[in-house]
Amino acid sequence: MARRIIIAGNWKMHKTPAETLRLLNGLKVRAVNISNVEMVVCPTFVSLTIAAEALKDSRIVLGAQNMFWETEGAYTGEISAPMLKDAGCTYVILGHSERRQYFGETDETVNKRMHRALAEGLKPIMCIGETLQEREDNRMFEVLERQVTGGLAGISAGQMADVVLAYEPVWAIGTGKTATPEQADEAHAYIRGLIAKAYGDTVASAIRIQYGGSVKPGNAAELLSKDNIDGALVGGASLDAESFIAIIKAAE
Ligand code: PEP
Repeated sequence: MARRIIIAGNWKMHKTPAETLRLLNGLKVRAVNISNVEMVVCPTFVSLTIAAEALKDSRIVLGAQNMFWETEGAYTGEISAPMLKDAGCTYVILGHSERRQYFGETDETVNKRMHRALAEGLKPIMCIGETLQEREDNRMFEVLERQVTGGLAGISAGQMADVVLAYEPVWAIGTGKTATPEQADEAHAYIRGLIAKAYGDTVASAIRIQYGGSVKPGNAAELLSKDNIDGALVGGASLDAESFIAIIKAAE
């Protein structure tokens, strides 16, 4: 089954609002002829509104990098799903390994965010992936199973149509080390198998699983040529219009 490739840029804590506009302008002119790849950019919260405005006349869609699970209240420093929707977001990244590593997020808190995002009409990109230690201890499959099961607990088969998964081995994020296409495909096939077990073959064959971890113009085509790799979540290389578009073109 042909799944529409989705390439998302996770800008992390980079780019001021003015820099965001400059990068978006660079992306927009280069993306005009691209129609068969879904393109997503995820700037910081303070740039979302101006990014939404700037992207109105383009095929690039907007995502956020995180959100809290309550809709409003006394939660200083947090941002809610309705706020992201109102700001123009279609997607939201949830459970990124940096959130898990530095901000104490767990499968349980990721799951609460997943429920809220879907209830409010946001499409979550749920990140999972093992650390180097876990891979070396042969615990990769166990960790992926725990993250998939925990993060998706209580999510229905119908809701899965709006879910994107991102397999991001922690040892490959921002390190310049990329999983080989075979390593990535093996993990993706395993994740798809977990989805099949939980939701059946139709949901499993439709769900898009992105690879993330030092994706660059030079390795994107080979990774994306694998059967189970349906896109990429790109950090560093998404901060430059030329290299992000080169990755998107590799996906075409
Ligand atoms: C990421 O942060 O999701 C990521 C994959 O980063 P990088 O591409 O820089 O490794």
